Amino acid sequence: MASPSKRKISIVPLPAHVKEKCGKFILNSHTTIAIPADSMAAKVADFFQSQIRQSTGISLLTGGTASQNVITLKLDGEKELGNEGYRLMVNRKNISVSAYKPQGLFYGIQSLLQMFPPEIMSSKVVTGVNWMVPCAEIKDVPRYSYRGMHLDVSRHFFPKDFIKRYIDLLAMFRMNTFHWHLTDDQGWRIEIKKYPKLTEIGAWHVDRENLPWMEREPQKPGEKATYGGYYTQDDIREVVKYASDRFVTIIPEIEMPAHCLAVLTAYPQLSCTGGPFTVPTGSYWPNIDIFCAGNDSTFIFLQDVLDEVIDLFPSKYIHIGGDEADKTNWKVCPKCQKRIKDENLKDENELQSYFVRRIEKYLISKNRKLIGWDEILEGGLAPEATVMSWRGVEGGIQSAKMGHDVIMTPGSYCYFDHYQADPDFEPKAIGGFTSLAKVYSYEPTPEELSSEQQKYILGAQGNVWAEYIPTPGHAEYMAIPRMIALSEVNWTSKELRNWNDFNSRLNTNIFTRLQIMGVNFSKGSYKIDFLSTAIGRHKMKVSLSTERLNPKIRYTMDGSVPEMSSKIYCRPLKLSQSTTLKTAIFEDGKLMEKPSVLSLVFSMSTGRELKLATAYSNRYPAHGNNTLVDGLRGSTNHRDGNWQGYLATDLDATVDLGKIMPVTKISIGFLQNQNAWIFMPSEIIFQLSNDGINFTEVAKISNDATSKQDDILIRDFTQTLNSVKARYVKVKAVGVKNCPSWHKGAGDTCWMFADEIMVD
Ligand SMILES: [Zn+2]
Repeated sequence: MASPSKRKISIVPLPAHVKEKCGKFILNSHTTIAIPADSMAAKVADFFQSQIRQSTGISLLTGGTASQNVITLKLDGEKELGNEGYRLMVNRKNISVSAYKPQGLFYGIQSLLQMFPPEIMSSKVVTGVNWMVPCAEIKDVPRYSYRGMHLDVSRHFFPKDFIKRYIDLLAMFRMNTFHWHLTDDQGWRIEIKKYPKLTEIGAWHVDRENLPWMEREPQKPGEKATYGGYYTQDDIREVVKYASDRFVTIIPEIEMPAHCLAVLTAYPQLSCTGGPFTVPTGSYWPNIDIFCAGNDSTFIFLQDVLDEVIDLFPSKYIHIGGDEADKTNWKVCPKCQKRIKDENLKDENELQSYFVRRIEKYLISKNRKLIGWDEILEGGLAPEATVMSWRGVEGGIQSAKMGHDVIMTPGSYCYFDHYQADPDFEPKAIGGFTSLAKVYSYEPTPEELSSEQQKYILGAQGNVWAEYIPTPGHAEYMAIPRMIALSEVNWTSKELRNWNDFNSRLNTNIFTRLQIMGVNFSKGSYKIDFLSTAIGRHKMKVSLSTERLNPKIRYTMDGSVPEMSSKIYCRPLKLSQSTTLKTAIFEDGKLMEKPSVLSLVFSMSTGRELKLATAYSNRYPAHGNNTLVDGLRGSTNHRDGNWQGYLATDLDATVDLGKIMPVTKISIGFLQNQNAWIFMPSEIIFQLSNDGINFTEVAKISNDATSKQDDILIRDFTQTLNSVKARYVKVKAVGVKNCPSWHKGAGDTCWMFADEIMVD
């Protein structure tokens, strides 16, 4: 691979093998195209020709016998390319794209288009461009077979034309699955002929767009529901065909047994209580109104709906949701309780499992496969179900171990409704922080799985939930470029993936194309990340980086706020005393994100060897194993990358000071943000040892960790000591582990966040 600066080809996702050659092919009005006799291949050729025609004004000639200036598409039986692989050869005279199947041909064309000047993506004829393609040999196959994107059209409705554009973007980055979240509490979006009230009533709610999502008043009596929309069956057929021409499979999602208030508003007899209901204008918790599992008419209704859905969507998978079902009503509903008794079920979890199995049986009878969110594991998994692991990766691991197919979509990497940059400078989002670089760092196949079990991981999917996304342009902004990062996670082998290289291809090639296409995309976060590593005794090297390519980072070390005239960062800083580093990026005289502050503290433990006997969570790893002795202090923002999170576990860390020395003070820093499920430890124990085996306790600090405090707190737990010597310092912190009874997450697992152990 050529270095990014010398490279002429910058394809995303990165192909398996790229060999750049000298010279170029030039497309002109005499260029001909040769197409194999295959109807799908002809469609691929149509797609290519129309793109060429609309931007260059050139209509590629067909049927000629020329031996030069020809673009040849071939289905030449090279079986090892599989369904999706391709081979692309460009020399000065000709271009050839060959594949085993038309889908591979299509992906070869997508890569070829990315080798043309970016103006090739224009929707209008551009003049004055030399339509040249650098000579190269490319051979390419994808890593995962499932490469998906989701879109929620229930919380906000997006018109058909935007769905097509979204599919275009998927196809451009060689993604092959669109998960269409068609139904939810706030709106039913698909016409069902047998149940017209689903769209007459269920597709509309009262307009409360001027209010924050969580503070929206429900519909009042007499108010008219005017906000919403739906797709007719003709719309759906049109979109399915559009997607299929681009080799994108659409998986429809029909939510059950929960997230169905739009249905219950239209047909209240399908609930446990009988209603009445209104279609919610925002989200309310808890949401206890779900389908009655004891009522056979619920299943008749769902089977009828699924019949029409199956007719419209050729996808082998049908997604049935299955998530977040609050079983409050099932516990008291006589019909549900009778079902539990009649079917010999243990509890309401098994009733959910009964529900899903019954639907799965029906889908199998129609030759389809069920897919659901990982809650379908609760109470026992349906025999052939495929699981979408969203609440972390554990559900995925468990399912793969049981021999079920899995699609990975963990919230912390794959939820593109999260913030992607500093919330103070971004449109309001649901929360979280999932930067472009974080998405790119995702590895879908968990290490815990054996190579046999790893085969059940089909790939990863990005999810765009629309509570805080009211318009198509906003949806694009949230999806792109994170979706592009995920496309490379899914397509390119782990060994070839490299963030800096990806970022360079994105900035030098892809962003220009997106601009030409009029896509509203984010350029990534200006957030400055600090990395500190020990270099020798009492010296730390601090590197600064951002997702933006080569930004000018300005910094101060005297505590002052950085300005346009502050020093520019060029190379890692070497620091040997406690320092407050403040950094900021300015463009055109404007501050791009609020200044980042790094507090570096030096103590005897800085840069020393650290052993952790308990594991931190991979969701908040901070800087990994040495975080607690890297000198970096966290801020009040628990997502600043300096706080290490411990989920429902204690912390047990031992620092090796290198030799026996006097110890006068031990300290460890914690953060509390009870509104984010983060609590202080309830007890801290400090122990010392000379040999690392026999430890003596020197302090025990108790802390009232469970009383309610709304403020975000940072506290160092400190013990001073008199005339003691030791080589090893052990710090234990006992976590609260579960939210206390007064908390809104009462009983849920909760966090403990630590940043640094300091020894003097
Ligand atoms: Zn019921």
